[in-house]
Formats: sequence, C-alpha cells, structure tokens
Amino acid sequence: IAWDQGSGRRLRLGVMGGTFDPIHHGHLVAASEVQARFDLDEVVFVPTGQPWQKAGREVSQPEDRYLMTTIATASNPRFSVSRVDIERPGATYTVDTLRDIHSLRGPEVDLFFITGADALSRILTWKGVDEVFELAHFVGVSRPGVELAESDIAHLPEDRVTLLEVPALSISSTACRERVAAGLPIWYLVPDGIVQYIAKRGLYRAPRGEQ
Ligand code: ATP
Ligand code: MG
Repeated sequence: IAWDQGSGRRLRLGVMGGTFDPIHHGHLVAASEVQARFDLDEVVFVPTGQPWQKAGREVSQPEDRYLMTTIATASNPRFSVSRVDIERPGATYTVDTLRDIHSLRGPEVDLFFITGADALSRILTWKGVDEVFELAHFVGVSRPGVELAESDIAHLPEDRVTLLEVPALSISSTACRERVAAGLPIWYLVPDGIVQYIAKRGLYRAPRGEQ
C-alpha cells in the first residue's frame, strides 16, 4: 500500500545502505535523526552484497551482517531490513539498490537515501549517477572526522541533496573490529545484542599468531 490512509500523502521511505560489519550506534542515530527530521514513515536498512574485498580486507558473511542489522533494528517500529543487496550477485551499486526498492514498493513511494558525509563526497564516482538522483532524494549526514567542503557537493543537483547535522558519534565499524581483535570492549558502541552476537560467532578475532 503506497498511500497513507489517514492523510492521503505519499509514503516517505528512508534507505540506509551500508556494509554494517558490524552495525553500530552511529548508523542507528543517523537513521533515527533523518527519520524524525524528514518525517519518514520507515527507514529500511540495506546490508551490501558480498564484495570480493573492501579496502583490502575480507568482509563478514552476508548472513552475519544481515542478522546483526536485524537484531540492532528490531526494537524500532519504524526500522526494517531488506535483503535486496545481499541477494543480488556481485558488488553493490546504489543505483541497483534504489531500483529494486523502487520496484518493490511502487512508484507512489518517495525514497530518501541516507549516507554519511564520507560516502556522499564519493557520489560522482557511483555507477548510474544520473539515475540515482531521479530515484531518490539524498540526505548527507555529518560524521565526525569528515569535513564536507562546499566544493565536494557543488556538482550535485541542489534540489536532490540535503545536508543534515546529526548528533556526532565518533564510531566506525573499522574501530569496532579493531577493538574486538585487540580484546577491547565494544559495549555501548554497538547495541548489547551485537556485542553478544559477535562473541557468539567469534567475529573479528585476530587470527592465531597475530594477537
Ligand atoms: P567501515 O569502517 O567498515 O567503513 P562504517 O562505520 O563506515 O564502516 P559503513 O557500513 O561503511 O560503516 O557505513 C554505512 C553508512 O553509514 C555510510 O553512509 C556511512 O557514511 C554512514 N556512517 C557510518 N558511521 C557513521 C557515524 N558514526 N555517523 C554518521 N554516519 C555514519
Ligand atoms: Mg565506511
């Protein structure tokens, strides 16, 4: 159903793509803030497909990343998780994500793609860059340690991109993985269920000999 029965307005759907290896409170705060500020009916988290590698490292299994994303978002009635990217073979391109969500939800739904400032500044290198701006409005959220210069976004279509300051959480998945490998706690950086899932599955532990 594309129409909100009460108001008759178009449904507004946020799309939060990411590797989520693991999902952390920075992702959740960003999505929650955009949901409220843009009055979104729902935010769907979309874990990426399995890249051969990301920045020279192995990425955790899609099912682990999918389950962690589900665990972390389960308590929020406005959050959901989609398998479209993990079920499409090969590397994930945002244009494919948006096409799939668009065809699943129908043409009457307005899409808002949520991305951190670091990812937004790389946007012009994305495959299908013209089509992505037809499919969705882009919300670039602030991220500690990432300066977004006017010139970084000057070439993006002004009416299709909004920059939003969100509560700053200096958390990255990379830092979470490094902390687990070093035997440091990740409590309060990620939801409790994610701490427990990582321990249960033995994710991110340094290979023998590297400890
Ligand atoms: P990695 O260190 O493995 O790259 P990450 O923490 O950057 O992980 P991703 O899965 O790469 O997490 O990010 C998904 C999306 O969330 C990206 O658009 C990214 O910019 C955004 N994001 C990640 N962490 C934060 C944060 N702390 N605040 C705001 N946005 C964030
Ligand atoms: Mg990242």
